[in-house]
Amino acid sequence: MLNDTYRHKGLRKQLALLLKEKGIESAEVIKAIETVPRHLFLNSSFVERAYQDIAFPIGAGQTISRPHTVAFQTELLKLKKGEKVLEIGTGSGYQTSILIEMGAKVYTVERQKELYDKTKLFLPTIGYNAKFFYGDGYKGLPVFAPFDKIIITAGAPIIPEALLSQLRVGGRLIIPIGDKVQVMTLIEKIADKKFEKTEYGEFKFVPLLEDKEWGG
Ligand code: SAH
Repeated sequence: MLNDTYRHKGLRKQLALLLKEKGIESAEVIKAIETVPRHLFLNSSFVERAYQDIAFPIGAGQTISRPHTVAFQTELLKLKKGEKVLEIGTGSGYQTSILIEMGAKVYTVERQKELYDKTKLFLPTIGYNAKFFYGDGYKGLPVFAPFDKIIITAGAPIIPEALLSQLRVGGRLIIPIGDKVQVMTLIEKIADKKFEKTEYGEFKFVPLLEDKEWGG
């Protein structure tokens, strides 16, 4: 793979170990972290630090989440190979690539045109193919529903109603809810219109912007 050296691979192994120490248990998630070349998702000035457990700016005022946050959210999804996943907040495409690496079919939505354009072009060049959509994540993708799993990678004030209805019965939705800090929240769809909620720790995300700000 382009510009992926033994040194980068070594750094990824160390990052994977660190995430294990921080409590990530899924072997599949750890394997994906060891495989996806995170340094290629960052502006070159950050490359040296790509494998530290920190967030970075990716343009358009957005950030690529910390590896621990990506791993934590992904682990909660309990992904199985071949599952259909809706991701809200494509951003750099790093989380998208982790999902694809784990065998998911990913539909990903981004509201910043600049990031949508950039990531849609970039991901296939490193071998990750997703279906990219430029649009408002609050609305989801009704045409492609239902989804086995839904992951929201921006902090939301509420759980968007449309997303709950696009989750299949038996499916899982992971969303960070809150304003300044967010509580990682798992929603399981038990039956049609019947949901179970479990809350995990606090995390920090950029905001999931409301429909009224669409186009900004
Ligand atoms: N998963 C990304 C994280 C990006 S940060 C990664 O791995 O890099 C969250 C992203 O959500 C930002 O790119 C932001 O533009 C996007 N976003 C915010 N509100 C949105 C909305 N209503 N619909 C779709 N995307 C949104």
